[in-house]
Amino acid sequence: MTHFDIEKFQPKAWQILSRSFKNNRVASTYLFHGPEGCGRWALAISFAALLNCEDLQDSGGSHAAPCGKCGYCYRIFSLNFEGLYFALPLSPHKNADQAAELTIQILESKRAEPFSIISSAKSRNIPIETAREIRRSLSLRSSHDITRVAIFYEMEKMREASADALLKLIEEPPPRTVLILISRRPEALLPTIQSRSQKIRINRVPKEAAEEYLQTAYDLSDSRAELLSRISDYSPGRAIELIDEQGEATERGVGLLLFKSLLEESPYQTVSHINEMLDLRNRGGIDSLLSLWQSLLRDCVNYSVIGDENELINTDFTSDIKRLSGRIKGSEAAASMADDIKNTLEDLRRNSHIQGALTSLTLKLKSHIGVAAN
Ligand SMILES: [Zn+2]
Repeated sequence: MTHFDIEKFQPKAWQILSRSFKNNRVASTYLFHGPEGCGRWALAISFAALLNCEDLQDSGGSHAAPCGKCGYCYRIFSLNFEGLYFALPLSPHKNADQAAELTIQILESKRAEPFSIISSAKSRNIPIETAREIRRSLSLRSSHDITRVAIFYEMEKMREASADALLKLIEEPPPRTVLILISRRPEALLPTIQSRSQKIRINRVPKEAAEEYLQTAYDLSDSRAELLSRISDYSPGRAIELIDEQGEATERGVGLLLFKSLLEESPYQTVSHINEMLDLRNRGGIDSLLSLWQSLLRDCVNYSVIGDENELINTDFTSDIKRLSGRIKGSEAAASMADDIKNTLEDLRRNSHIQGALTSLTLKLKSHIGVAAN
């Protein structure tokens, strides 16, 4: 990761952090909470640079920024700094060597793309050894004149034993050390951890910043960057996952966008998106689109009944599913919608006219969610 202007992506959070720095009121533990792919990691790294930079860029007021060029900035942004500690969620491994290898892989992907999302697979965990090791290292005095920063990434992936080690660290913060906890779901953390951290809310990235990032970093045209930002709910990390090698939105991304349109926009808008975005000659593509809709619908219903995001199948679309689940009114409406999709799938497999079938399906589904026709 080269130095970049985090203030563009997370203006509010950066302002709070840089103000606390300028007023000499840096907390010993922060909890960055909010959606994935929106710059939580980049914010933590940029803050570590701010705390150590030798040539601060101070534009008055509450604004300060790391220079991005001094030796400290360089090492911090390349994730190669003696005062940076990482506790990352690792997939299952046999020994410390494998754990180190997995850690290097994650750091490499973060270095190349700070917005990249680490898979949220259930089997991943922040290893207890890592939490203990960080605690041990931080208990020793640093021989350098630096502020140490320990990043605990994806805190919901931390088991209780690791959380205990962390809690001891939070209770007795070592000098010149800042702990940054990053979480999608802060409510899932131990109450004692929550109450002892200063919470910093991470928001969706501003529209212009998200689009500009995709245009410059991924060489996308204005309209593609606009579409992908919208599909991804202004999370650059998620947008990147939805780009194929040709720089087009993947089938899955388009499927989600149309499902959102179905639940949130007018029938006219949905039908015109369908005609615009789908290749209506590609029966296989339409088949997988409708299968995705079935699975998204199931997730929405599950979430509205159980309310547990860990039960979702389409984990990459968690935030959308949580929001969309409120649009489906009751299990009867959901069952009718599921039937309509299933019947259309069967009709299409029997060779009926694709465009007509999709338009009629759109209208039927809309009638169950009560979106006014216009
Ligand atoms: Zn610097």
